[in-house]
Amino acid sequence: MVPLLWALIAGPLLAYDLDDSPTAADLSVKVAELRNLVANTRSGDERVHEFARRLFERIPDAQVAVHVKLRGWDMERVTEKDAASIDRLMRSAGARFKTFAEEVPEPDLKDAYASATVLHGRDRIAYDSSLPGNQMGSYRYDPRTTAWGRVKVNEWIAQVATVIGDAFAFTTLIHESGHADQHQKGQLSPAAVVLGEIAAFHVEYSWLKLLDPHGERLAFLCTKALNAQKNEPSALHAMALAYVTHLFEVWETGGAFGKIEELVRKRGYEDGHAPGNGAKTPTRS
Ligand SMILES: [Zn+2]
Repeated sequence: MVPLLWALIAGPLLAYDLDDSPTAADLSVKVAELRNLVANTRSGDERVHEFARRLFERIPDAQVAVHVKLRGWDMERVTEKDAASIDRLMRSAGARFKTFAEEVPEPDLKDAYASATVLHGRDRIAYDSSLPGNQMGSYRYDPRTTAWGRVKVNEWIAQVATVIGDAFAFTTLIHESGHADQHQKGQLSPAAVVLGEIAAFHVEYSWLKLLDPHGERLAFLCTKALNAQKNEPSALHAMALAYVTHLFEVWETGGAFGKIEELVRKRGYEDGHAPGNGAKTPTRS
């Protein structure tokens, strides 16, 4: 008797139109119907599967399932095809900084950005082909005075910008400008390398957080760079992949002092000397 009753109920259920306006109430009814259908030993696997398939295919369109607020990515303009000049990186970063920042940026980031603007205005940021491949930039300064030093940017960055976009490529410039800002404030010591790097990496983190508050764009860029290197291996794609992987590592610290310190030490910085720093003029990479 019971199986017959289930069969009678199950029959009309399959005819129920799943394509009509799925709302929370509808879905809840249909889920209950599916449960009943599964419980009915006479339903037959195919009928259960068909019902389940149609139900779950509808869920992504259902109003109940899309209450998540889709913000979209507030993005700067699309990636340019030509190599980026320092001037273009500054303009792209400026547009991002002024136009898209909904909240007041973190104070050290604001100061580092102001330093970048001064340095660029005095033509003290330039590409340099002599930096080793694993060093993206440097800040060279005189610790005896607060005279502005010079930022050197690995010329690879000009090309990397064509893959990952100007705003992310600008990260090296904001890191070095973070050192320049510390120098202006009298806080940059040639001996306290680790502390200086922590401060600069924190500025770097704040910049990334401004560009990509939830890390979605960086995750996407890592995947994109990984695929590019897999499908079309090249020195540029390898560099872009290494660069975005580094950015993602910085983003993942969440800006926490201890985690940034861990990252700084992992990258080989030690107090007393920065890696590869044999020059007389103190340099920060
Ligand atoms: Zn540094």
